[in-house]
This record gives sequence, C-alpha cells and structure tokens, in this order.
Amino acid sequence: MSAAKKDLKACLNCRYLVPNDVEVCPNCGSKRFTDEWEGFVIIIDPEKSSVAKSLGISKPGKYAIKIR
Ligand SMILES: [Zn+2]
Repeated sequence: MSAAKKDLKACLNCRYLVPNDVEVCPNCGSKRFTDEWEGFVIIIDPEKSSVAKSLGISKPGKYAIKIR
C-alpha cells in the first residue's frame, strides 16, 4: 500500500492549511498553495501562543511548520 496523499495543502503566503478543494486561502486571500509541506501546528489562541508569535500567526487554525 502506498502512502496516502495529503488531503490538505498549505498556503504559500501564510502556511494556513486548507482542504485540497479550497481555492482561496480563508486566512490571507492568497490563491497560491503547495502540497509540499511538513508538520503542522494547531493554533487555538494566537495571543497566548509563543509558537504562533514565532511563526507570525495571528488567526486560529492549522498551519504547516515547513513549506517548500
Ligand atoms: Zn494564506
């Protein structure tokens, strides 16, 4: 059995993760995505998250840690 294809893609601009059928990033409005991403963080409260601050995230959601 081959590895399952990722069903999420990452916004190239802000790294927000969305399902593959989404065409516009709900976070920043970008239309450019990549499925070449690794790892993710779920940000629930950006104001209190040091991870969110270090990644420059201001909106709750799921974000890729690394994009290529
Ligand atoms: Zn975005």
